[in-house]
Amino acid sequence: MKMSKLFVQTLREDPSDAEVVSHKLLARAGYIRKLTPGIYNFLPLMWRVLKKVETIVREEMDRAGAQELLMPFVQPKELWEESGRWEVYGKELMRMKDRHDRDMCLGPTHEEVITSVARDGLKSYKQLPVNLYQIQSKFRDEVRPRYGLLRGREFIMKDAYSFDLDEKGLDKEYENMAQAYKRIFDRCGLDTKMVQSDSGAIGGSVSHEFMVITDTDAGENDVFYCNSCDYSANSNHAISKLPTAVVDGGEYFTQKEIVDTPNTHSIEDLSEFLKIPSTLILKTLVYIVDKSPVLALIRADKTVEETKLMNAAGGIEIRIATSAEIAELMEQNGFCAVPGFIGPMKGVKTVIDETARDMKNFVVGINQTDKHMVGANLEDLGLEDIKFTDIRLVDAGDFCPVCGKPLFVTKGIEVGNIFKLGTKYSKPMNAVYTDADGKNVPYVMGCYGIGISRTAAAAVEAHHDEHGIKWPISIAPYHVVVVPVSTNDETQMSCAEKIYKELIEAGVEAVIDDRDERAGVKFKDADLIGFPFRITAGKTLSEGLVEFKVRETGEVKNLTPEDAVKEVIQAVLG
Ligand code: ATP
Ligand code: MG
Repeated sequence: MKMSKLFVQTLREDPSDAEVVSHKLLARAGYIRKLTPGIYNFLPLMWRVLKKVETIVREEMDRAGAQELLMPFVQPKELWEESGRWEVYGKELMRMKDRHDRDMCLGPTHEEVITSVARDGLKSYKQLPVNLYQIQSKFRDEVRPRYGLLRGREFIMKDAYSFDLDEKGLDKEYENMAQAYKRIFDRCGLDTKMVQSDSGAIGGSVSHEFMVITDTDAGENDVFYCNSCDYSANSNHAISKLPTAVVDGGEYFTQKEIVDTPNTHSIEDLSEFLKIPSTLILKTLVYIVDKSPVLALIRADKTVEETKLMNAAGGIEIRIATSAEIAELMEQNGFCAVPGFIGPMKGVKTVIDETARDMKNFVVGINQTDKHMVGANLEDLGLEDIKFTDIRLVDAGDFCPVCGKPLFVTKGIEVGNIFKLGTKYSKPMNAVYTDADGKNVPYVMGCYGIGISRTAAAAVEAHHDEHGIKWPISIAPYHVVVVPVSTNDETQMSCAEKIYKELIEAGVEAVIDDRDERAGVKFKDADLIGFPFRITAGKTLSEGLVEFKVRETGEVKNLTPEDAVKEVIQAVLG
């Protein structure tokens, strides 16, 4: 490819809405152009990268025994009603009507469609197990599309679905997929951590995410991990053992009583006023889960993990209540306390965190402004049902639930996700096979996703410097750029052309920068675009040498043209 013909316009400035490095660099280097928020054109360079990621994914999925198909992007409401998800999937599901006024949606994921495909085709136990996958655009009307390709609304995903006879079969396929995922990300030049995670809207019981670890904002997930064993989990799923703490207020409060606690709006105010550690306060937080209020009770030095609370409350959407909503809740229940003094209330759905289990003679809000109850115990709170659920966000320094050593926290970009779905879709959709005894049995399913476009962007997050992208060879749009310093210099030009030709003939993907530009401009663009290698035909040609630069390490050396060609061929083709 001639650089003069390559469809690429590099920009001097970052787009104004670009917050993370992959978004900035992919836009500046001419890989992507935004059409509208969360929706991008993948320009020729980007498309080459995406196709390479796709090829790696295809090769490894095929190697793992899966078969590729392609399902429709537009799906009818009826299927989503069969699974029960039409009602519960939030606003991310882009719904629309066709000309016959029929409800349709754009596929955010394909469990329903694949289950219907399987149900039509997989009738006998003799046909199982099967794993089917596709690579396709998905649409999710994300609340906050951001970070370029990392969180788009339209994006490319590989989604695979396995159908097994039983749980044992699923366990085996799940492990098979975990291995395939490891190989895929390794081949894409990405170091990933496989972490336990919540199974979210897709459902099921067990799931793991593949995280690219990063210390930047691009990592939207907090990952807790142990250095002494292999425990690691997304914060939405992580559990821990707590360090010991004072949880019995017996030495502070000899009896249960209501005391004045004026202006103690925060936990700090309250613990300072009462001169007690915050571990002796049971705090009450008000959330809205699927439009209804839910109270969360938790030891005051700890934080509620919203996904855990949402799951415990059986919902699919959660947010903290506004002060107006809290006021309304108070009024409905005959109280008028302001935040800071809220406490348990009869008749309102309540989730009690595990940390409350050992608390005794503690302090708790009683829905009266400027008052708290001290020396209280759970039985005093008028709760209908005292049941403990873990809804706590782990803190770094808590202890590993497996080996008891301290946990660390880091940030991660989720590039892949594997789920054990079990019969979550096959049962309601009556997707069954006939077993050896002629009985109908629902398939035991798994599903396995990889964000193709997110993986490419994550590779930029992991491989760049202040000058631009440093693509891993395996997914670079082109392997090498050949730069004649001056296109008017015949020796330089013919040397560059010869090198370029030899590379192409050997099967290397090469670009020759034939533009009549200053060398500085060409070098800048080469660094920005991120070609893994650059061969420059310039001054050193008088000694019969070209300059050979490795983008990843910055290493520069002078080689004969033949050796430079050899090095690239060796690195690219092995
Ligand atoms: P997230 O938690 O980041 O919203 P998710 O868990 O909802 O993602 P999955 O349903 O597990 O996503 O989808 C499989 C894969 O698709 C993810 O692991 C991720 O790589 C990719 N993906 C999901 N949402 C997006 C998005 N909005 N933009 C780009 N890629 C995405
Ligand atoms: Mg996921």
